[in-house]
Amino acid sequence: MAQRVALSEGGNKKPSRVRVAVRLRPFLAQPDERDDGPCVRGLDSQNLEIINWRNATESVKYHFDAFYGEKTTQQEVFLSSVKPILPHVLNGQNASVFAYGPTGAGKTHTMLGSSEQLGVIPRAVREVFNLVNAKDANEGWDYKIGMSYLEIYNEKVLDLLSPNSQDLPIREDKDKNIFIPGLTHITISSFSDFDSHFVPASLNRTTASTKLNQRSSRSHAVLLIKVVRTWRALHHRQQTGKLYLIDLAGSEDNRRTGNQGIRLKESGAINLSLFTLSKVVDSLNSGTAIRVPYRDSKLTRLLQDSLGGSAHSVMITNIAPEYKYYFDTFSALNFAAKSKLIVNKPFTRETVAPPVLTVKRARETHEAQESGTE
Ligand code: ADP
Ligand code: MG
Repeated sequence: MAQRVALSEGGNKKPSRVRVAVRLRPFLAQPDERDDGPCVRGLDSQNLEIINWRNATESVKYHFDAFYGEKTTQQEVFLSSVKPILPHVLNGQNASVFAYGPTGAGKTHTMLGSSEQLGVIPRAVREVFNLVNAKDANEGWDYKIGMSYLEIYNEKVLDLLSPNSQDLPIREDKDKNIFIPGLTHITISSFSDFDSHFVPASLNRTTASTKLNQRSSRSHAVLLIKVVRTWRALHHRQQTGKLYLIDLAGSEDNRRTGNQGIRLKESGAINLSLFTLSKVVDSLNSGTAIRVPYRDSKLTRLLQDSLGGSAHSVMITNIAPEYKYYFDTFSALNFAAKSKLIVNKPFTRETVAPPVLTVKRARETHEAQESGTE
């Protein structure tokens, strides 16, 4: 289990911060639900406010590296948070982009999107090919792009490109690179080549999820794009850059949904990975880290060489505006926030519903859920 020996990266170099962006998806009114209006709203490109359930005369204001409101397009998210880090991957550096947040808040929309609204994954892979193709052959490097695709489910590492595979181990080589022996790695020559492997593997995952009760919201889907460049004049000179694109498991508190048995075990495992991820991001971003607890979960162990250190990392926290997400939104924001401020001013409502009543309702729901788990 957890070992206490792994200290943060050697040397005096401070590990790099994780850039934190929050994306609020549009309000999706369900015809059969009472429409209380949104409980969270953006203020500007870095700040948002949420109603304070403890005191309706207050709202809580949060500050992030970036805030994307409901009108932000897929293109805008990609251009401002993801595209700038991609050139580093061609220079042998590592990068990671992950979507965090409760189920239903827009993680898969952000990472994968749809054929009309392509998400981060197709855009980033296309851009990596564009960057490689734009390289001048006279520079002397030959580039090769490859992919792996895996799922971390219940603290097991499963190869999505090789169905029926068993739990795979995570190892570290003498240069502190993390790798997975036995994981399928496919060399890809174009975006459509990528798509031909990625789409069926994603479908496999979706099919498994309907059988196994929303497994997809309980597992972390990890796509790895690896760029290896070889110095033509000196063939043993190689540099490898890794890009992780991750659709995380839902961050909702499963204790509140009354899971039992296997589901409860899953929740515990998911909570361990997400909880450890939050500790890792916290210790990287607080700047006072003595020990970054990468080894405490599979997810963070896998990301050890691609999150913090010299890597470039972005976390996109997805949130939903509806009241039923209120407490999961609150905890996702507390995970993501650089700072938070309680403002002595009621949340600005955009609907006519009296705020006190709706807050009271949210609190009662929360308390009922809390007592239901005892
Ligand atoms: P998650 O993966 O976090 O469970 P999804 O990405 O599946 O959430 O999003 C839930 C629903 O909301 C989907 O129907 C999705 O299409 C929609 N949605 C999410 N984000 C947006 C957005 N920014 N704009 C429009 N629709 C969105
Ligand atoms: Mg999803």
